[in-house]
Formats: sequence, C-alpha cells, structure tokens
Amino acid sequence: MLDQNPVHAVPPASPATDFHALDISDLLRSINSEADAGLSASDAADRLIRYGPNELAEAPRPSSWKRFAAQFNEVVIWVLLAAAILSGVMREWADAVVIMAIVLLNGLLGFLQEEKAGRALAALKKLTSPQAHVRRGGEVRLIAARELVAGDRLELEAGDYVLADTRLLRTASLRINEAALTGESSPVEKDANRPLDASTPLSDRGNMAYLGTVVVAGKADGVVVATGMGTELGRIAGLLQQRAPDQTPLQRRLAELGRVLAVVCLGIAGLVFLLHLWHHAPVSEAFLVAVSLAVAAVPEGLPAVVTIALALGLGRMARRHVLVRSLPAVETLGSVTVICSDKTGTLTRNQMTVRELALGMRSYEVSGGGYEPVGEFRRRVVGDGNATTEPVADPAADGDLRRALTVAAWSSDATLTRDTDTEGWKAVGDPTEAALVVAAHKAGIVLTGRRHSILKALPFDSDRQMMSVLAAPQGMLPAVVYTKGAVERVLSCCTHELREGRPEPLSERRCDEILWLNGELAARALRVLGLAYRECGERVPDEIREEDLIFAGLVGMIDPPRPQAGPAVARCRAAGIRPIMITGDHPETALAVAREVGIVGQEDGQVVAGAELQRLDDAALAKRVADVAVFARVTAEHKLRIVRALRSRGEVVAMTGDGVNDAPAIRAADIGIAMGVMGTDVTREASDMVLTDDNFASIVSAVEEGRGIFDGVRKFVHYLLSCNAGEVLFMLFASLAGWEGALNPIQILWINLVTDGLPALGLGVEPPEPDTMTRPPRPPREPFITWRRGGQMILTGAIIASATAIGFAIAYRGQPDNLAIARTVAFCILSYSQLLFSFSCRSQRYTLPELGLFTNRPLLVAIAISGFLQWLAVGPAFAARIFKVERGLGGYWLLILGLSLVPVTLIEVAKIVIARRNRREPAKS
Ligand code: ATP
Repeated sequence: MLDQNPVHAVPPASPATDFHALDISDLLRSINSEADAGLSASDAADRLIRYGPNELAEAPRPSSWKRFAAQFNEVVIWVLLAAAILSGVMREWADAVVIMAIVLLNGLLGFLQEEKAGRALAALKKLTSPQAHVRRGGEVRLIAARELVAGDRLELEAGDYVLADTRLLRTASLRINEAALTGESSPVEKDANRPLDASTPLSDRGNMAYLGTVVVAGKADGVVVATGMGTELGRIAGLLQQRAPDQTPLQRRLAELGRVLAVVCLGIAGLVFLLHLWHHAPVSEAFLVAVSLAVAAVPEGLPAVVTIALALGLGRMARRHVLVRSLPAVETLGSVTVICSDKTGTLTRNQMTVRELALGMRSYEVSGGGYEPVGEFRRRVVGDGNATTEPVADPAADGDLRRALTVAAWSSDATLTRDTDTEGWKAVGDPTEAALVVAAHKAGIVLTGRRHSILKALPFDSDRQMMSVLAAPQGMLPAVVYTKGAVERVLSCCTHELREGRPEPLSERRCDEILWLNGELAARALRVLGLAYRECGERVPDEIREEDLIFAGLVGMIDPPRPQAGPAVARCRAAGIRPIMITGDHPETALAVAREVGIVGQEDGQVVAGAELQRLDDAALAKRVADVAVFARVTAEHKLRIVRALRSRGEVVAMTGDGVNDAPAIRAADIGIAMGVMGTDVTREASDMVLTDDNFASIVSAVEEGRGIFDGVRKFVHYLLSCNAGEVLFMLFASLAGWEGALNPIQILWINLVTDGLPALGLGVEPPEPDTMTRPPRPPREPFITWRRGGQMILTGAIIASATAIGFAIAYRGQPDNLAIARTVAFCILSYSQLLFSFSCRSQRYTLPELGLFTNRPLLVAIAISGFLQWLAVGPAFAARIFKVERGLGGYWLLILGLSLVPVTLIEVAKIVIARRNRREPAKS
C-alpha cells in the first residue's frame, strides 16, 4: 500500500507526538475539530493547501535524460556504434551518420514507448489508490487518502487500512494489526477510553490508530492528528524507493526467447560474415553487413512493445470497470476456467428492499421501492382457505410490528438522508441495514441520536453472520441488546419468542417451524434476517452477551439480479468457463438467484451448504466441486478450501471477495478479484484485479480483454519474428548465392526501423476476434510459441525471403551493372512485403475480408506511415545518395508491388483452404 502514497512532507497538526496522552477536549481544541459533524468542506480544502496532501515522500525518479540515456545501454546499440565508428574510419561518412541517426531514432522510439507505458501504469495506480470514510459537514463521504487532513473525523471498520494517524474517539471491539509499524503480527485490541500517559510506548497506545496499520475487526471513529510525513510511519519510513514493476511471466518468457534468438542471429550473422569473406569482400564491409543483419534480426524492441500492449489493454479494461493490479493477471485471464463469484452485489444489485415480515403467527407485506421511505404495510389474513391482505392503518400501533422494526432500526448502522441535489433519498452504509432502516421509516419509526445511545457493539462479521448492539435509548435504562443476522444463528441465541406482545418460551418444534418459514421465504429469492432483543436490567453489562434473547421475527428482503448477470453467465459458458456462486446467504436464496441468472438449470437443486462442506475432507470436496455450482452459508475459510479444491483439479480459478476474511481465498486463487465499491482495503490489497462497479459482467469483460491482449501480443510477436526470419534468410541466401552487397547495412537497419515498430503496435491493438468468447480457455501450460507456430514463422520468413530474392534475381540478371537497381528492388520488396504481411497477422484463422479491412485503423495508419517512410528512402534524390539506391524505378514498381503481395496473398489463401478442410473434417480440427 505504501508505495501508492507518493511525495510531500506534511507538518504534524501539532509539534507534539504524544497525542495519545492528551485530554480529548484539549486535543480537539488544539486542532480545531470540535464540531461532531467534522470539518467543513472549505476548512478541509484550506488545510489541504496549507499542510499538503497526506502522502509519504518518494525518492525522485531518474530524470528524463537519464531514462533516455538508459535506452543506449544495450549490447546491440554498442555493436551499432562500433559499426558507425568503423564506417567513419573507412571514411564512409554518410554511412556513419546514418547509422548514428538510426541508433538515435531507435532510442527515441524506445524511450517514447516506455514513457507511454509508464504513464498508463501510473494512471492505473492512481485509480487503485485507497480511499477513506470521513465525516465532513455532517455527512459521511468517501475521499481519496491523499486528501485527508489533520482534524478530519475518520470512520474505520474491519478491512480498512488506517490512512493517517488517528486518535480514537469511539471503538467497538476494535482490533488492529500493527505489523507494518511495530513488527508485531498478532492484532492488538484498541479502546478509545483507555487513559494513557505520555511515556506509553507506541505498541501499547490503545487509543491511537496509526497510518499503515489494518483494522482486522470491529468499528471505530476518531480524529486525524497527523498526515503524510508527520505520521509515525512517515518518521520511520524515510523516503520510499520506487519499485520497478515486476516482469510478468510472459515478459520473462519473451525476454528469454529474445536471448535465444539473439544467439541464433549472431550465429547466422557470423556465417554471413564468413561467406562474404569467402566471396572476397573486404573485411570491413563483411563486418558491417554482418553487424547490421544481427542488429536487424534481434527482436530487441519486443519487451517494450509487450509492455505497451499490456498497458494499453489495462486502459481498455479500466474503461470496462476493471482495474488490474498485477500485470501477470492479464495473461492468466485468458486461461481462466472457473469464475467463483459472490452473490450479493456481484450477481445481484445490492439494492435491498424489505418485502415481507413474519412475526409470530402473523405475516406482513411491505410495498415501496428504493430508499424512499414511503410504503404500505398489509397484513396477510387467512380466511375460508383463501389468503388475502388488509392494510395496517398505523403500523407503529401494531405492537409486534413496532417491536420488530425497532430491533431492526437499532441494530442497523446505515443512515438515510435526503440528497440535496436530486431531492431523492440516499442511504449511507450497508444496503441490508439501509433496507431495514427504510422499512422502519415506513412505519414511522425514526431513531434520533442513535449514535450517542449505543453503549457497545459487536459489529457484523460474515463468519458470525450476525451483529448486536447494546443501547440505552436517550441514556435511559434498562439498556437493551438488539441483534440481527442469519436466522439459524440468531435463533440459536434465543430462548423466547415474542408473540402477541408477550415473550413465550421457544420450543424445539417452534424453532423448526421458524426455520421452515425461513426456507420458504428464501426459496422466493428473498434474503432473510432474524431479529431478536433482550432487556438488561438496571445495570449496564460489561460486554454484550448474545444469549437468552427474545426472537422478534423474520424479515425478508429482495435484491434483484443485475440485468447484465444473466447474459454474462451465458457468455461465460460459451467461452468454456464455469460460473460458480459462493455466498454467505441461505442455500434456498442462493439457489433461487442462481436459477434466475442461469448458473444452474431450473431443475438443478444441487447446493452445498457450509455445514456439509465442513464435513467433507479435501479429497471429497475436490470431487464435489466438479459438479456443484452453488455454495451457500460459507465462511471465508470455506472459500479458501473451495479454491484449493478447484485448483487441485487443474482448474484456473478467478475468485471474488469483499470481506476482510476473504483475503486468503483471494490470494490462493489464480486471479483474486476484489470489489471496488463494497469491498475492503485488505481484499483490494490482496487482489490482482478490482471491479469498480462490483459487477459480475465486468469479470467476463475482463476475460474477453485478457484473451484479446494475449492474442494481440502473440500476433505482433508472430509478425516480428516472421519478418526477422525473412531478413535473415534473404541475407543468408544472398551470401550463399554470392550476391555481394544485395543489401547494404543502412538498408537493413532502415527496414528494421520501418517495419518493426509501428505495425507491431498496430497489431497490439487489434480488436478481439469474433470467436474470442466462443472458444475454450487457453491451456495454461501451452508454450507461447508452439512448434506449429514456430514452423509457420519460418515458412513465412522463407516466403518473404523468396519473393525478395526473385525480385533481386529478375532485376540483376547476373549483370554487375544492374546491382544498384536490383538492390533497390530487393530493398523495397523486403520492406513492403513485410508491411503488407502485417495484415495477415491480424488473425490466424479469419481472412482479411472476414475481419474487415478498416476494423483496425491504427494498423492502417501505421502501415501508411511506414510505407511512406520506405518510399522516402528511395524516392527523393538526397535519400538515394544516402541509401545508395537507384532512382527512377519505373516499371520495376510493378514488380515490387506484385512480389510484395505474394506473402500476404499466399497466407490468406492458406487460411481459406485450412478453413475448408476443417469444415470437412470437424472432428480433427
Ligand atoms: P455474498 O457472500 O454473496 O456477498 P452475503 O452478502 O449474503 O452474500 P454475507 O455478507 O457474508 O454474505 O452475509 C451472510 C449472512 O449474514 C446473510 O445471509 C445474512 O443472513 C447475514 N447478514 C448479512 N448482512 C448482515 C448485517 N448487516 N447484519 C446482520 N446480519 C447480516
């Protein structure tokens, strides 16, 4: 996380560092943050200007000049420089200057490519930087961590990173992992009310939360006392060193390939050198030709182009709501075979609305939608075997209904406010809790001063699946425990049930009835919560005990599937990827939603609940995951086991998570996906990818982009290597045939420059092919260049070399007088045939007319520019002198055009023939 917080020193709000020992009111006065509503927006903006952003200083990046100079620190460049010097010694001034110019141009291109990639990556890093919940002007807002200022009221909950040094004002079961600061890996308990003296060591300061530490449980709010370099971490961290991004496996594999090819090319260059000598060419000339060939054939630009393709792809993904945090994830995406997804918020909208209540023997329906607290309560009445409903005139006067909704409202932290801009209502907090607050509102139950009446809290935790608060409404005793959560959990803490205003003992039979009712509601895709309470007598207990509770009823809420979920699930299947739902919700709710979005068929009733999963050992689970697509009531630990079971079967797993406990499962998956909206900082930090809209459909888009990017890289590598093979083979052939000076060094370097850079970039942005999402995932162990593909590259190279050789031979006709014109013809054919061949590289299978000539405009522009550059080398008189070519090609242009079209035409025809054959023999294809 820390390397996401660059630059600037911020003076602490006060020169003292013993904020923990200050009296709260003195502290608040000293930093002008006495208002409970937090700082006003203008005050916060002033402070930001005065003290600077909340960021740790970073060591400065090397200057642009140094980065530019680094481009020349490569062996091939040194070899070229040696060649330039040699040309100078031989008084070939033009050659020397041109080689130097080409070296410079190459360096400049490399520099620009790297800068572009760096900028794209930096922009993405900014997007994934952490955010903080602060109260400003009375409202809770989400702001970028860098905008935090001393005096801000910060809210913390499980899974959050502490983003500035904070004196805690209120804590509820707060535990913080301070390993980053103190090295102590077990979390420490925090208590805002603990008085401390100034000498208390950092690790024992229970009323402080420090930048760089992580909230692992509980909730708190506090006031920011120091930011950026003024924090404890800022003091000890010093300057953060920038880390160069790690190479991805693909980049590593390509770098390796590059090294192997370099050796091969050097070998061939050596051979060409010897052949030249054998044909009695001067040593210096033989050396120059060999060096130029080696430089042209070594694919030194490959890593930079790969980075650009990846970075551009990441930009496209960001526009489709996916932020990729680790480059290797882009490659892995293409191999994903299983996507494990949460239900709530990912497949569903996470916009809850209470629809039903089942209280004792009564049940109610609630109307209304969204967060607008307007709706009607109707009670279900069964008479003559028919169920009808009748309106409840005054819900607050219906004792059991009032009690249930009161429990719901007290045990919910969400708040409902009117949006001043849209005049509509908006909720801040957990949507499940917001739905309960809205339902209570509809019945006229609105709590005022709730925050101050809560004495203690056991916050929601998805492993416990419930939460409780201890409240003394308006400070009056008796204090009351209010609890809500998964029905079976809440019920197991209850001894009584509220019925017609009176607590009645809960029999086992009645418990079964309630659980059956729970299943009934859940089967209609409702999310069901149980409500319970207990009055505590005149003494405020030291801690909340979730026992001896009185069950107040069930509440069922809808959470409709996202409209994109169904189609996205279908696309997944078409792409050979199995979608799996893993949720904390009730098995029936999970199954109902899974059916609605198509994860399971209407008849499929298979679901594994957490309790069953607990009983399965790893081997049994590995068998079970093969055919079950819905897992319900799972804990974070179960998620981890499911990921491991799937991976043990050789699946490549993408897994979503949002809660603080999901981090291990996310890390264990091949691709860990965190939620940008509802997720916690901890899961985001552990993830490879963040969804900015929490939407399942975005995962599927990411897979499509991932496959497209990988294909793109493969295409331009295919292009570059085939072209290089063409150049090497032609030179080798020319040397064997004794065509001395078939191409001179400058011509070889020029072809390299013109044909490599721009068209490769154009291929890198080739839009995904039509079958991207209808073919199966790429086998993860498949080599980047298969034997078959390698063979195709050499064959293509041979075709390009043959076309060039034929052109040369026709123009040369064995007459030394024709050498200049023959060389010019070969120079043009070699260059233009490569440029035209780039069209063929757009797809291995689809022909150019099938893809559409104009569907990759960047490539068209690249080819036009490169084609023009090639003409520049042979057209104008000054260029003819430099490149030693013959002007006035006249009719030879037809020959050049005809032969340049040969490779692209042959390959396109081959695609048609292969497609026909595959249609005839579908089984073998
Ligand atoms: P998913 O794992 O798909 O996101 P989920 O949101 O249902 O599904 P959890 O958030 O782990 O999963 O919730 C598990 C269960 O805990 C829910 O089914 C519900 O019964 C209960 N629950 C959810 N939110 C709360 C809450 N704020 N307070 C109390 N109980 C809750």
